[in-house]
Amino acid sequence: MNATLLFNGQVWGHPGSNAILFAEGGIAGIGEAGRFADVDAERVDARGGSILPGFIDGHTHLIDTGLTACGWQLDISGCDRAEALGRIAAAGRSRSGGEWLLATGWDESRWNPATRLELADLDRVAPRSAVVAVRVDGHLAVLNSAALRRGRKTVEAVPRLLDPSTGEVREAAVERLRSLVHPDAAILYEALRAAARVCHALGITTAHVMSGRADPLALLEMAHNLRLRLVVHPPAERLDRLVADGVRTGDGDEWGRWGGVKLFADGSIGARNAAVSSRYECGGRGALNYRFEPLWRQIAAADRHGWQTLTHAIGDRAIGQVLRAHRRAGSDRDLRHRIEHYELATDAQVRETRDLGLAVCMQPNFVGNWSGAGGLYETALGPERDAACNPFRAVLETGIPLGFGSDGMPLGPLYGIASAVQAPHAGQRVSPEAAVRGYTAGSALLSGNAPAAGALAVGLPADIVVLDGPVDDDGLARRSVVRTWVGGEPMSCEMEDR
Ligand SMILES: [Zn+2]
Repeated sequence: MNATLLFNGQVWGHPGSNAILFAEGGIAGIGEAGRFADVDAERVDARGGSILPGFIDGHTHLIDTGLTACGWQLDISGCDRAEALGRIAAAGRSRSGGEWLLATGWDESRWNPATRLELADLDRVAPRSAVVAVRVDGHLAVLNSAALRRGRKTVEAVPRLLDPSTGEVREAAVERLRSLVHPDAAILYEALRAAARVCHALGITTAHVMSGRADPLALLEMAHNLRLRLVVHPPAERLDRLVADGVRTGDGDEWGRWGGVKLFADGSIGARNAAVSSRYECGGRGALNYRFEPLWRQIAAADRHGWQTLTHAIGDRAIGQVLRAHRRAGSDRDLRHRIEHYELATDAQVRETRDLGLAVCMQPNFVGNWSGAGGLYETALGPERDAACNPFRAVLETGIPLGFGSDGMPLGPLYGIASAVQAPHAGQRVSPEAAVRGYTAGSALLSGNAPAAGALAVGLPADIVVLDGPVDDDGLARRSVVRTWVGGEPMSCEMEDR
């Protein structure tokens, strides 16, 4: 038997236990180390740290993460304006003229002054490349002149989504542009392998992947070589094909399984197009992407064919519409349909979400990124709505299944957990235990996900992480993942230089 005994750590959910034994991919014993003195196993010292179930990130864009990690696209998140433009300039110089240059992750809400990138900036720094610079939320992109020429047909197909003076495009036009700038299968595989290494280093052992433009079936097949469990969520437009293929939510194996189909009810707060009921500080109430009739029909169709739905809904007006659609569709509680982000849910909506048997996937890192004085939420929506946004506490107290995910902004469960524990407003703040649960057992609930249960118990898969200290309020922001096992196999926790 090829067994491992991990000892000298606090085992999550098992007070008084300091050792965990695993073999053949599964957990074989949990208890006090002395109990395992005679077991023939490789012994690994947890050095007094915490032994947790592997993290489950309930909402990722792993392909983007991987394309950036392997250098195929340029990551300008975390850059100030000058740095972002500097990196675009350098990447432009290193490519031959006329090539696409995709840069992602810029966020003017963290710049001073908060001025978005514009066509003229991009023309100045990278005139020869066709630059597409996608905002951090993915709902807005800025193009330079070369990109406008190269993508003319694509952008002209959705003219009202383009502002030619600033080079800004929105929503569907961003999606269409990005499908022009598309990696082939070999690059996709390289990207996923790079993304899996990033996940292992952060303690993520299962990732819910929004497959977007990629072939979801190819992703499921690739999952077998990644040592990362994937739950794949294709776009709702693919529903007919999926049904014709005879697959449904939950199908698959322990490495790759089908999640639900993804819909978008609105945009984002950063782009001021999340559908809110009271105006933004700058005016406007955002926009609903669907009329009610097609939305409920889409949800009802998925439900009828055994498909869970995941509907992106951020503003209270969008959340209200999605709830109404589920009520009208009478959707199946056993599928545990999901609402993604759920940032501006009102108290009444939280209660209705519970009554309809829905689950929510929320992003505690959003609070870390954008909540509090001077942050994006306050600037866009005013202090009152900042204080009320991302109501993790009300969601938990109401008994709604709550899973956490990062939406890739950035990937990193410990950052999300610390953000929820140290959140600026009372309604967002939860205990360290609840925050860890959000990223483990809570996220497992999002897929009725049998093998990756987000817990440590005999018989479950040995998806295990070790932190370098206790899970408590004060030190959380400084904790890091020192070891990760997936299915009992040790993974590298070295973060590679990008
Ligand atoms: Zn997303």
